[in-house]
Amino acid sequence: MTVRVLIVDDQEPFRMAARMVVEATDGFDVVGEAETGEDSVTMASDLLPDLVLMDVNLPGINGLDATRQILADNANSAVVLLLSTYEEEEYAPRAAECGAAAYIPKSVFGPDRLEEAWAAARGAADVS
Ligand SMILES: [Mg+2]
Repeated sequence: MTVRVLIVDDQEPFRMAARMVVEATDGFDVVGEAETGEDSVTMASDLLPDLVLMDVNLPGINGLDATRQILADNANSAVVLLLSTYEEEEYAPRAAECGAAAYIPKSVFGPDRLEEAWAAARGAADVS
C-alpha cells in the first residue's frame, strides 16, 4: 500500500523540499500540494490523503486550525504531521493539542523522521 501524502506550505522551496523527502521515502507518494490552510482543508476532503504534512505558519487560517478542521471531517482518516522551524520541545505540546500525530522541525525532516512518525501514528491508531 502506498501512503498518499498532501503537502501544505505557503513557501515553494519548503514544498519542494518536502516533496523530495516524500519521493525519497519508499512507499510514500505526493498526491497534492496546498499553499494555504483553507486550500488544505478543501484538498484534504477532495483527495482523502493518508498523511498531511502541515506547515504551522500560513496566511489565513494557520496550520493548527487547518489541522483541527481536517481532523473534524469524519470522512477523512488522515494522519497530520506538523512541520515548522520551532524547536521540538517548544512546539510538540501545541501539536498534540490540535490533534496532530507529531511535530517535526523542518531542519531535521527527512525520510527517517517521516517513516518513524508514520509508524508511530499507525501504531497508536491500531491500539485504539
Ligand atoms: Mg509557512
